Amino acid sequence: MKYYDAHTHLNTAWLYEHRKDYYQLFLDSWGKTIITVGMNPDANSKAIELAQETQKNRYPIYATVWIHPYEIGHGSIQSYEDIDQQVVALTEQLEQYSDFIVAVGEWWIDAHYPEYEKRQDLQKYAFTKQCDLARHYKLPIVIHSRSNFTDTYAIIKNYADCQIYFHCRWYGPDELTILVNTFPYLRVWFCWNVTYPKAKNLQASLQKARTYQQTQQCKILFETDAPYLAPQQYRWQKNHPAFIIALYDYAVSYLQVDLSDLQDLIEENILWLFRITQR
Ligand SMILES: [Zn+2]
Repeated sequence: MKYYDAHTHLNTAWLYEHRKDYYQLFLDSWGKTIITVGMNPDANSKAIELAQETQKNRYPIYATVWIHPYEIGHGSIQSYEDIDQQVVALTEQLEQYSDFIVAVGEWWIDAHYPEYEKRQDLQKYAFTKQCDLARHYKLPIVIHSRSNFTDTYAIIKNYADCQIYFHCRWYGPDELTILVNTFPYLRVWFCWNVTYPKAKNLQASLQKARTYQQTQQCKILFETDAPYLAPQQYRWQKNHPAFIIALYDYAVSYLQVDLSDLQDLIEENILWLFRITQR
């Protein structure tokens, strides 16, 4: 047995206090590596700390860093100068902690937040800066795209030479096909929203992604995105990395595949994508 959580937030308030317990529970549940994703300066530092704390372990945690679009206008970032300052800080972290940071992100163009119209230019500027940084350091770009495929795609299509990880997609097979036709290095991540009864379009895109995986046109990863998006059977509980097991079980049943084959595939994908060497 071996499970990987390709995207989680042990560095956020809901999980951070008991991070060691959640990590141990994950390891006790045949969990291997966790990728903890940054969202703001504090969460980025905590993600790096978690990676440092666990590096001597057989299955360490790795970090990604960036600034969440919510920070634009609502948080610490109000201007282009603020974004430039954050880029300087992130560049320093990428230089200093290159052993622990495996990707840049997560970022997306998010029209979901209030006053998007007023802030979309800032969001797009920050997104472009992230992609430039990822390209410079040859790191994957982690994208969370929820409600604005068109604007997100308009930017990332200029980075077809980069590894693009599309996470937490709410889109269906049509958008997946556009992505597959644009990016030779596309990875798509599925999390708990695929198990929700109304997520028929997303479930169809899991099936389609499997077809593309078979022809090597994209690769699939699984994630919890904890503490957000708990699985259907634990819908009102706090999500955490050990719940990843149930997502594998869902995929086995939905795709009619063998569990150990699926585990081998996901392991190969995640280790290769994040350039992680297993000890
Ligand atoms: Zn996330």
